[in-house]
Amino acid sequence: MISMMSVTEVSRRIKESSAEAVVAEHLERIRKNEFNTFITVAEDESLRRARMLDSIDSGEPGSGGRLHGVPIAIKDNMSTKGIRTTCASHILDGYIPPYDATVIKRLYAEGAIVIGKANMDEFAMGTSTESSYYGPTRNPHNPNCVPGGSSGGSAAAVAAGEVAISLGSDTGGSVRCPASFCGVVGLKPTYGAVSRYGLISYANSLEQIGPITSNVRDVALLYSIIAGHDPKDSTSVDSDTNITINCDLRGLNIGVPKEYFGEGIDPAVEKAVWNRIHDLEAEGATYTEIEMPHTDYALAAYYIIAMSEASSNLARFDGMRYGLRTEDKDVTTTYSDVRALGFGDEVKRRIILGTFSLSTGYHDKYYLKALKVRTLVKQDFDSAFGSVNVLIAPTMPMPAFGIGELVDPLSQYLADVNTVPINLAGVPSVSVPCGSTQGLPIGLQIIGGFFAESRILDVAAFVEQMNG
Ligand code: GLN
Repeated sequence: MISMMSVTEVSRRIKESSAEAVVAEHLERIRKNEFNTFITVAEDESLRRARMLDSIDSGEPGSGGRLHGVPIAIKDNMSTKGIRTTCASHILDGYIPPYDATVIKRLYAEGAIVIGKANMDEFAMGTSTESSYYGPTRNPHNPNCVPGGSSGGSAAAVAAGEVAISLGSDTGGSVRCPASFCGVVGLKPTYGAVSRYGLISYANSLEQIGPITSNVRDVALLYSIIAGHDPKDSTSVDSDTNITINCDLRGLNIGVPKEYFGEGIDPAVEKAVWNRIHDLEAEGATYTEIEMPHTDYALAAYYIIAMSEASSNLARFDGMRYGLRTEDKDVTTTYSDVRALGFGDEVKRRIILGTFSLSTGYHDKYYLKALKVRTLVKQDFDSAFGSVNVLIAPTMPMPAFGIGELVDPLSQYLADVNTVPINLAGVPSVSVPCGSTQGLPIGLQIIGGFFAESRILDVAAFVEQMNG
């Protein structure tokens, strides 16, 4: 029996006992290691921070924060000062960052405690958390199934009740997919809403850090803490991060894009999503079926752009600066030895394909063309939000698949069909549970216009209420 936690419950327990006692409880649960959710458990560091928080008087800086003493799991692609950070790759063996990502600093300022670094697909490239150098994470709803990816550890840790809250990153669905597969809530914020400083880049024009929690209110809370301008990330902007959840559906016009219910969608998923749309209608919202004609091309464009950016971003892992090191030979041999040994197959595949699509003679044919398609996909969203307030669609076309079931890369890429267009456009989207099939959760996503986080979370809260 799975029982998840909320921030309110954890905070109450901290008040009744202490941050140290609550961290110790969390550690005990995590140590059982049922689902391989963590790559690194920050035992000493989290207990030390808990004792520090317990010892300061309320009123001192750091005390009385909105997450005072609350443990959080962090996807292992965010830099945490003094805590090993691996990106689930052999190539970062032994790397301990000398600085904190901006999101981590903001969490600490509110009294949060980083309890560990969550498992993920290597360098966030994947949809299942099977490509981790540290072994696959398992889905708490069925350990023979994947938790989704690439932030599988972050979502599974929340679903398993190991932590109340976590952070993931979403380049093409990596917060929403595991949220959907694990029956939790996950938000991909508007591009630029959250600082990416200290997030180890996979495809930086697409990705955002986002919260994963057991309920919509906690997503809103975490979002309001991590969002906002950061001078260290020139793509970040200030926006209104105050989320009001009042479950107000008056005047809401929902767009239902028919392309997101296309070929290959599991009938149980389709039915669960439509049920909720009809529920929202019964409560006063209206819906319109709309067309987003470039959706079919989004997947191909996404993979070309993501792999191109990855091939450039991952050039820095050369065995010279951090992580894995082989016996020194000449420089070129060291580079190639370290990269051959350190990167897994999927990462190598993407570096090779990305390098190809950026190379002379192919750049215009692939990369440039993909950028043009990206603009068209974005225009689909612009015109949709000209007539509707939010879009609702299945997050994933299917529930969690079995571990080892989708082994060829293409079939995994295809599973991202409903999540990647949102990253190409840069708009926000939240995945919220909306039903289940054969014991596995189903998620729907609510997509909004730029910086419409408050609105989509309000609708998500309503959907959550309907789940009972
Ligand atoms: N599955 C997608 C990919 O492999 C998305 C990954 C992500 O969002 N980090 O690129």
